[in-house]
Amino acid sequence: MVNKVTVLGSLNVDTILKIKRLPQPGETMAMEAKKNAGGGKGSNQAVAASRLGAQTSFIGKVGNDENGRFMQEILTTAQVDTQYVSVSEDKATGQAFILLQASGENSIIIDGGSNQAITTDDIYQAQTKIEAADFLVTQFETPLESATLAFEIAKKAGVTTILNPAPAQEAPQTLLANVDLIAPNETEAEILTGIKVVDAQSQHQAAKKLQAKGVKNVIITLGSRGAYYLTADQKEGLVPAFKVQAVDTTAAGDTFLGALSSQLKPDFSNIEEAILFANQASALAVQKLGAVPSIPTFAEVSAQLN
Ligand code: ADP
Repeated sequence: MVNKVTVLGSLNVDTILKIKRLPQPGETMAMEAKKNAGGGKGSNQAVAASRLGAQTSFIGKVGNDENGRFMQEILTTAQVDTQYVSVSEDKATGQAFILLQASGENSIIIDGGSNQAITTDDIYQAQTKIEAADFLVTQFETPLESATLAFEIAKKAGVTTILNPAPAQEAPQTLLANVDLIAPNETEAEILTGIKVVDAQSQHQAAKKLQAKGVKNVIITLGSRGAYYLTADQKEGLVPAFKVQAVDTTAAGDTFLGALSSQLKPDFSNIEEAILFANQASALAVQKLGAVPSIPTFAEVSAQLN
């Protein structure tokens, strides 16, 4: 059975400026190279879900500009349904300016643009797309109000909801009460719980604290260590990452999320198996440069697992 996944989220054009080092205050500096690429957590997760086998739809907003058409094209090429990607007439498409230093370090400045113009009206427009899904997935790069309404609609219709709380921020109780699965990375888990995730004990404590806030199931991704889970019925485990040579970890978490939502059963009965698949998908992604170009297909992941 193919999972139906609806992603509510951000669409950004990433402008990557390759520089030797960060300029000092007051300094003017020439860049080495400039490249535009598709990005935004929402878009990355939708492309991942679709490439990895889910029937995927997107709810989002672009500007009436070249970048907006570029992002629509990326989703369409990945066979993501864009019926509910609307166009803002007064806000430009979201952008991320990535200062990539020779050391490999990234500094990122985001202009949320049209992503921040998603309204509750847009969510009502897309109501049938939410209700028809097996999973609704969102992040924190679009307005909280819209996510809260979308999750409420989803839960009323029996749709399983997944929240990737990135970038981390406090979420209202009304949203958390409707979250079936929260999936932060270590940094986000620490910001949300105040517990630094460093070992078996702290990851368990952080997950318990998230459950105490009202979410049912928790997965904390742990970079090269893999992913830890704690289910509603208190089953827990750590699924180790695959040992690979990482060249660019951009979109590792997004690939994980998309892969997970493409394989997970809505009752979470195959959570270990789905995490193993997601670990394999993101292990392939970190071995390639870029966000969207690094996301593997179902065939590529399966070939590694067999
Ligand atoms: P984020 O990209 O959101 O910070 P993580 O760094 O936790 O998220 O990575 C998400 C997943 O990607 C991990 O759970 C793991 O499966 C995989 N991953 C990340 N970094 C590596 C790595 N260096 N080697 C292998 N797998 C990795």
